[in-house]
Amino acid sequence: MDGFTLSLASAFISLVMALSLMILWYTSPRQWCLLDWAGAGLLFFCSNLISIMAICQMFPEWLAPVLVNLTYICGHAAILVGLRRHLQRTAHWDYVLVLALLIIFLHTTPFVQASVGHRVAVFYPLLMLINSLVLWQLWRLPKPRLHPAYWPILLAEGLFLLQLSVRFVWMLLTPGPLAEMAAAEWLLTSGTLAVLLFLLLVTIGCVLIVMRSQELTLRMASLIDPLTLCHNRRALAEVAPRELARAQRTERPLAMLMLDIDHFKAVNDQFGHQVGDQVLQQISHIAAQELRGYDQLFRLGGEEFLAVLSDVDEQSVMVVAERVRSAVQDFEFQHNSQQFQVSISVGIANLCKDDLDWQAMLQRADRALYLAKAQGRNQVCVAENIALTEVVIT
Ligand code: GH3
Ligand code: MG
Ligand code: MG
Repeated sequence: MDGFTLSLASAFISLVMALSLMILWYTSPRQWCLLDWAGAGLLFFCSNLISIMAICQMFPEWLAPVLVNLTYICGHAAILVGLRRHLQRTAHWDYVLVLALLIIFLHTTPFVQASVGHRVAVFYPLLMLINSLVLWQLWRLPKPRLHPAYWPILLAEGLFLLQLSVRFVWMLLTPGPLAEMAAAEWLLTSGTLAVLLFLLLVTIGCVLIVMRSQELTLRMASLIDPLTLCHNRRALAEVAPRELARAQRTERPLAMLMLDIDHFKAVNDQFGHQVGDQVLQQISHIAAQELRGYDQLFRLGGEEFLAVLSDVDEQSVMVVAERVRSAVQDFEFQHNSQQFQVSISVGIANLCKDDLDWQAMLQRADRALYLAKAQGRNQVCVAENIALTEVVIT
């Protein structure tokens, strides 16, 4: 294929990349990384357009190389910027600007101006560095986060880096003037085909990444209580069976602590619903602080919370529950210049052989909580380790 056709195909695909990512951004405007990637597509498009115009001799010969290289390399850097933004790392368009200035400066040096071969010798390593940085961003992710949605970008960057390295090493090792080698037909054709594949994979990759991220956001939203930011009952239905199965398999202890704020209705009635909401937030915060990092706290609804503790013996569970109860009791809430305190009651269920499912445990914890309320509130009660029909409370 001749250079003109290949550049035309690249220009078309980069325009498709820019437009499709821009349209996707229009429908999901909070995904700012899409604009970075659309910018990358636009830069690749400009690079190819200038190449085509230069081939048709519609562009000043001295200006074409600097603009083609500038837009092409900055396009690769824009992919890096978008990926960093997507991964919630700092996105540095200012670095891209510095890179652009560096490329312009390099084009003013006699060495770079001398031939295509010299430009290849200078700019290939720069491109390889940018591609490596993109791969590094993904490689640094904890392995469970490296979802298949990232594979097309990994593949695109990996293959692109590989072909750049092979071509670069070939040029270094082959005797003869660099300029002739850089102009070799097979090198130009394979290079543009690699760019075409790269653009296709990157476009697919960017779309997949954004779709995956939206799916995760929706999933998180469906599992988190927006007021207290604790997990909700739906999350409990996912976590509890897993925890129960693990505890039964490993024969390790498991406990459920059901927490309920005492006379919470009175707090709402006296201070208003907004203060009631702040009390709920504060109590979930206190409970989370008193629990260990890997204990899980859920808001079951209203003013009821459930903590799931694994690998803790029954005595320690009691200690934890008492700690949470007394921390809540000691906390001084303030509303206008008025101070007030609230208390919680706690019902504990430790996993026993009669618990066939997590709901059975939850029922026993609820029953223990009911007894804590009946016995005067602001206390902890433990359900006996027998089936609910025979439950005895200590
Ligand atoms: P007890 O000691 O028996 O648990 O009494 P209580 O008043 O805490 O329990 P009750 O079930 O009678 O009242 C619970 C109250 O919790 C009633 C409801 O208005 C309030 N509530 C439920 N969800 C929220 C919420 O999201 N925000 C606020 N502010 N109040 C809530
Ligand atoms: Mg209550
Ligand atoms: Mg309640």
